[in-house]
Amino acid sequence: MTKKRHITVAKGDGIGPEIMDATLKILEFSGAEIEPEFIDIGEKVYLSGETSGISEEAWESLRRTKVFLKAPITTPQGGGFKSLNVTIRKTLGLYANIRPNISYDPFVKTKHPNVDLVIVRENEEDLYAGIEHQQTPEVVQCLKLITRPGSEKIIRYAFEYAVKNNRKKVTCFSKDNIMKLTDGLFHKVFNEISKEYPQIETEHWIIDIGIAKIADTPQDFDVIVMPNLYGDIASDVAAQITGSVGLAGSANIGDHVAMFEAIHGSAPDIAGKGIANPSGLIHGAIMMLVHIGQPEVATKIHNAWLKTLEDGIFTGDIAKGSASVGTMEFAEAIIQRLGQQP
Ligand code: ATP
Ligand code: MG
Repeated sequence: MTKKRHITVAKGDGIGPEIMDATLKILEFSGAEIEPEFIDIGEKVYLSGETSGISEEAWESLRRTKVFLKAPITTPQGGGFKSLNVTIRKTLGLYANIRPNISYDPFVKTKHPNVDLVIVRENEEDLYAGIEHQQTPEVVQCLKLITRPGSEKIIRYAFEYAVKNNRKKVTCFSKDNIMKLTDGLFHKVFNEISKEYPQIETEHWIIDIGIAKIADTPQDFDVIVMPNLYGDIASDVAAQITGSVGLAGSANIGDHVAMFEAIHGSAPDIAGKGIANPSGLIHGAIMMLVHIGQPEVATKIHNAWLKTLEDGIFTGDIAKGSASVGTMEFAEAIIQRLGQQP
């Protein structure tokens, strides 16, 4: 028998526990050789007085297993709590956030049937580095940090990703017409590194028109690399035009540890109702299985998920008014189809 790979799992807040239970059930029935270790993070932990939102034991598990499957969490409003997502990314050095966006037309209705793009978002720097100050009672400041090593690392990752995944083009988004030093450095490093990959087509767009183009002609994009804040915004747009923010998963990659999650938040507006779409987290889990060397199981789950959509089984966010199933029913429909593959 193969030795099971230990992974760290957090069920999170809001819809987190519902979509994680659904995802774990699918993993269990898929034959994935994994052994989950559960940690508590998020709201409960913050409010218990652990102001970082994560305990020492949780860090220990993460450092040991080096693989993290994470449901969305809620950072309590006010009280000066730091975003745990930012803390985890920075502490574990998860410098690259990879977000594939694909349209599943005709099964998931979308205005853009031909989307197949991957956003590679820088994950540690920029305005999300967490450097914010109150300067005077009436002036607050947030510093935008862009470094050459950080830019080189993420841009090289984007080109290497393109080569490994048989992608043809890498696009860079920045706002270097206004932020000439910070975004200027990012764009400059992009131009430098692109010379090492003559087989890959390259282009650059100013972020505002770039995101407008994602919304209008997403089929023109392949791999897109950009600083942190722009990546956050662009990936919600890209996910939404494929049908729902509930569809896409993401991988957060570091040199030692990797974290896999859904791109959406904890959706408190629909929490506890059993109606959330678990697909984003399922896609995160599929990327995790590829990362830990179990690509066959990953493909099996992905095919069962596709078959479920093909059979017209949808959660409410995708069904848009017509008949829909709940989170667990959707997962059970996938499990039924796991067994039906050759
Ligand atoms: P964050 O800042 O953590 O990214 P957010 O403000 O972007 O959070 P989300 O929690 O992602 O917000 O929710 C945005 C909207 O999308 C909400 O209306 C929510 O109900 C919906 N939504 C998010 N995830 C899902 C899902 N898995 N299934 C169905 N609807 C979802
Ligand atoms: Mg969001």
